[in-house]
Amino acid sequence: MNLELESLGDAEGALAVFDPATGSEIGRATTYSEDDVSSIITLADAAGQEWAQRTAKDRAAILSKWFALTKQHTEELARLVTAESGKPMAESRGEVAYGASFIEWFAEEGKRAYGETVPTFAAGKRVMTIKQPVGTCAAITPWNFPVAMITRKVAPALAAGCAIVVKPAEATPFSALALERLAHEAGVPRELFRVVPTTDPAELGTLFCTHPRIRKLSFTGSTAVGKTLMRQTSDNVLRLSLELGGNAPFIVFDDADLDAAVEGAMASKYRNAGQTCVCANRILVQDGVHDAFVEKLKTRVEALKIGAGCEEGTTLGPLINSAGRDKVARLVDQALSAGAKPVTGATTSDAGEGFYEATILTGVTSDMAIASEEIFGPVAPVIRFSTEDEAIRIANDTPYGLAAYFYARDVGRVFRVMEGLEYGMVAANDGILSTEVAPFGGIKQSGMGREGSSHGLDEYLELKYCLVGGI
Ligand code: NAD
Repeated sequence: MNLELESLGDAEGALAVFDPATGSEIGRATTYSEDDVSSIITLADAAGQEWAQRTAKDRAAILSKWFALTKQHTEELARLVTAESGKPMAESRGEVAYGASFIEWFAEEGKRAYGETVPTFAAGKRVMTIKQPVGTCAAITPWNFPVAMITRKVAPALAAGCAIVVKPAEATPFSALALERLAHEAGVPRELFRVVPTTDPAELGTLFCTHPRIRKLSFTGSTAVGKTLMRQTSDNVLRLSLELGGNAPFIVFDDADLDAAVEGAMASKYRNAGQTCVCANRILVQDGVHDAFVEKLKTRVEALKIGAGCEEGTTLGPLINSAGRDKVARLVDQALSAGAKPVTGATTSDAGEGFYEATILTGVTSDMAIASEEIFGPVAPVIRFSTEDEAIRIANDTPYGLAAYFYARDVGRVFRVMEGLEYGMVAANDGILSTEVAPFGGIKQSGMGREGSSHGLDEYLELKYCLVGGI
């Protein structure tokens, strides 16, 4: 099957897509108007009625084929991801594997949408629950994981027996269109799953929230847009999943294995040039190991190879665009003027338009913008602390609550800190926690709902209580 960019694109298309490494246009995608998408939703809804009647086993067989095709086309998909998001090829291959894992997982999990029989409350009556598809769904996804953010929503929706219409991010429509093509090739009915690029996200966002056939919206993106959608979905009382921004603390205690902590910080902070919602956004280091940790981290950071994602050996790609780079530069400059010290980097890179050097700052304090805003760039702001209570207090002092990380060996501390951190996901002694088998999601202003695991399937199911009397 042809997944080359030229075959997915449309020279006349209204949506221009750019290579973040050079800023040059790589292709154009066809866009869909409000009227087009309204009709697509109506068709999806009809296809969903038929799909819901199929057995979970039949749906699983089709999803398994989609998984196999996705794996088979890893290289072409990875090239698309790198071309439109800029990430290094090795990371793009990793993303395709991660994205595919959701299809595999939910193909199986869909067969286990069990209900319950409940011990009755009265003679002659029986109590049961069943789970049924929520109905036609809409999804809006970001550019930072153009494959995985699609499969994490579409696979559970289809497995549960729902139709789904997806609006991909403007920067990355081609990965989404390739996944749609593979799904259709696998046997997913064409009307059941559609990808609808646009140049006017607010227009389609409003349509998704107000169209009478849509029963659920799943959104991954910024907290600001998530709040807008939450308001817009209230009129139709839509089921809503929101995966929003984060401000992850990464805490290194005096008793940590420092080499492991540095390894974890590299993975958590610099993957995708720091453009992940679960990225370490603040590195909190205890007095006793502060200098040693910073020194070790500096050695590793200075070994990163900055360059275009498609170049062999690149480990740090560009930011998504020059606006992303300018935001990072602004936050670093503000921190430096407020007294932070540059350990390495702290400047734009001459590698090209969207590049910013891998950076470490020390002397950062919680009142600096860099410690409260999502950086979305390759910058590690190091905050020094003295006590465990102080670390937990600083870590929780944010409206966000997505992911948190800490390194410690004292088993009592591991439990205390794990329980004390107000986050939807906490990793002790590890820098990467995303997996299809565990519930991914945040609390506070990082959102609601979970993706992945059996909980991710429940987001697309309604729980119905069934009472049978007269027995
Ligand atoms: P964004 O909110 O600007 O865009 C996300 C999506 O929303 C895009 O598809 C965009 O077109 C769409 N959108 C923009 N305005 C809209 C509107 N008014 N109505 C409807 N849709 C609209 O975010 P971004 O810059 O693309 O992505 C980065 C953000 O996403 C970060 O905050 C990051 O933390 C977050 N993110 C969260 C997760 C998670 O799982 N929690 C994962 C990845 C990214």
